[in-house]
Amino acid sequence: MNGFPPILAEINDLSKDQINWLLYSAKRFKLGVVPVGKYQISDSHQPIIATSFLENSTRTKHSFVIAIQKLGAMYVDFNTETSSLKKGESLEETLLTLRHQGVDLCIIRTSVSHQFDEFKAAPPIRIINGGDGINQHPTQALLDLMTFMDDGSKVSGGTVGIIGDCVHSRVAHSLMELLPQFGCKIILAGPEECLPKKLDSRLDSSMFHLTNDTKEAILKSDFLYLLRIQKERHSGPATYYDGYLQKHGVSLARLEHMLSGGEISKIPFVYHPGPANVGVELDHALMKSRYYRAHAQVTNSVYMRMAIIKAMLANLGEKDE
Ligand code: ASP
Repeated sequence: MNGFPPILAEINDLSKDQINWLLYSAKRFKLGVVPVGKYQISDSHQPIIATSFLENSTRTKHSFVIAIQKLGAMYVDFNTETSSLKKGESLEETLLTLRHQGVDLCIIRTSVSHQFDEFKAAPPIRIINGGDGINQHPTQALLDLMTFMDDGSKVSGGTVGIIGDCVHSRVAHSLMELLPQFGCKIILAGPEECLPKKLDSRLDSSMFHLTNDTKEAILKSDFLYLLRIQKERHSGPATYYDGYLQKHGVSLARLEHMLSGGEISKIPFVYHPGPANVGVELDHALMKSRYYRAHAQVTNSVYMRMAIIKAMLANLGEKDE
């Protein structure tokens, strides 16, 4: 499929057909239908892909690097600490420099929300957003959707309870754009300070519900998605941090208690984008239980990111499948 945008900044940059294509393509990588190895875009051109992480990362950066290497593309780690960005050069000029050195695609993480908006009219290079401030983390949401579907979690006609610091979570914002397109309702749950004050008008629909009551979210959801308190994005100390696990977190004992009391008919799968703070949004027993699916998300992240990179570079000359 052609027509992927040069900049993937947010979920809404993709059509539903393109999202379905990515799910299909990622699955083919996972099943080994598409051989990994040398990523031949054209006889004369091997793509060069750079990563530029202006914020910390474990999972996202490394899964992109593994995806790039599995595809057989050349990889450059653009070290922002030693770059001219530190001398005051603009990001746009830096990206143009990379492009003129032959880089085809840059995966960028930044603390600045909406950083890529200014580039959309005249993209300096192809860009994948690896997370911009509190705004969006589209590749995370796409790999999450893949994992929900793989697990048989009820997406279409189902409800996901997103529990935690929803207002500061770029992952939540991307899931909020993605899941309703697939017929999945979203309950946002957490302390008052963690919930959007009012929903964006685009999201003002029966697909969304807000609650401060974690129990309500567990009762009404088919699967759960836990979020870390994004302390680094708070202006002051979080007042609700003490006793968070008991009030707003999810423990295995809590779920088992609800099951034995007949409040829920089964223990739902629990997802987390990582990094998880044990003892805050979840407990150790839940993390070690079979209901916790974060490692399945990590595994799928490589395949989904391979699919995204391949799609974004397709018009460099590779034959469309
Ligand atoms: N890893 C995710 C992100 O970069 C979630 C988190 O940091 O809490 O947004």
